[in-house]
Amino acid sequence: MIVLVLLGPPGSGKGTQAAKLADYLGAVHISTGEILRQEIKDATDLGHQAAAYMENGQLVPSSLMINFVAERLSEPDCQVGCLLDGFPRSVDQAQALDQQLGAQGAKLDLVLSLSVPREELERRMLERSRKEGRSDDTPATISKRFDVYQTTTEPLISYYQEKGLLHSIDGMGSPDEVFRQIKAAVDQFRNV
Ligand code: ADP
Repeated sequence: MIVLVLLGPPGSGKGTQAAKLADYLGAVHISTGEILRQEIKDATDLGHQAAAYMENGQLVPSSLMINFVAERLSEPDCQVGCLLDGFPRSVDQAQALDQQLGAQGAKLDLVLSLSVPREELERRMLERSRKEGRSDDTPATISKRFDVYQTTTEPLISYYQEKGLLHSIDGMGSPDEVFRQIKAAVDQFRNV
């Protein structure tokens, strides 16, 4: 079971790269943002609980996310390999992930961190808000999500650096160029 985490601020292209990488590895792509948007559409309990937080650009409480992801990770399809996109988003989530993987006799193999300058992120996010109309892509919510990223998610970079798991990827350039770097990092890890 190969377990990877893709870290990156809003607008870094994390979702696009995660989909390509999961495909390349034949691993399950677990995007918590996508899952939550689907739960809202399906009007599930989790969807109801998550909606207001997401609309405001805040994190959904970890107590909800942790159980959900833990259950997903123990499903049979994930035993081949999985790529987490959007989780963990805080140190408490990262600790819960370590614990869950440990309980499954697995461990986190590699963390890929996409870095993109703030001005470029803002430009991409505003462009996306015009094109896709995602309800949490309004200027006020975008700015809130950047703040949340900086205070709560960015500390994960040093958390994983200290564990020797972090591999930094330059997120500027075309999706194909970024993916080439990601592939190189993963192939090096797998010794292909
Ligand atoms: P982005 O990376 O562009 O902010 P995502 O689709 O990954 O977008 O996430 C959208 C929203 O879903 C987040 O702003 C947050 O409210 C919620 N969310 C996703 N993953 C998590 C998580 N692991 N913990 C808490 N909230 C989450």
